[in-house]
Amino acid sequence: MIPLTEAGIRASFVNASLRERKAVTIPDLAEVSWDDLDYLGWRDPKFPQLGYAVTDVDGAPVGVLLRQADGRTRSRPQYSWCEDVLLPNDVVFFVAKRSGDAGRKGDTVGTLVCSQFECSANVRKRPPVAYIGFDVEAARLRRIETLNIRVRGFLADIRDGE
Ligand SMILES: [Zn+2]
Repeated sequence: MIPLTEAGIRASFVNASLRERKAVTIPDLAEVSWDDLDYLGWRDPKFPQLGYAVTDVDGAPVGVLLRQADGRTRSRPQYSWCEDVLLPNDVVFFVAKRSGDAGRKGDTVGTLVCSQFECSANVRKRPPVAYIGFDVEAARLRRIETLNIRVRGFLADIRDGE
């Protein structure tokens, strides 16, 4: 993905209030290896239930504020970013408000995501050889593409409320 700035990230959240945007803890961007990411995702050390995911859409950053669902939620995940990938980490259920009027009325979209947003690293690992002649590199590229499609589909769904 293209490198983002702190100001760009903070302004990118399509489903957060001004107060929420100001409260976001932005990670150390100097440590980020942008070429190896399909999206930048992180948990907020000040708000353990919150997570954020930002990527570039048509050259501009688009971010969402995600809330880890507790046991009381009745909604179901509509997305699963790393489906079909062998995961070395936990997956959690995050719910995100839709942007605009829909979100204000309580409309949400749910997705299963690696708990510390390890998705980009996971899809870049070489998958196991499924059969003789299996093209590992092609499979790896397909997984990266699939993750991109899923994250962007989720973001488009969130913005449907605009
Ligand atoms: Zn994942």
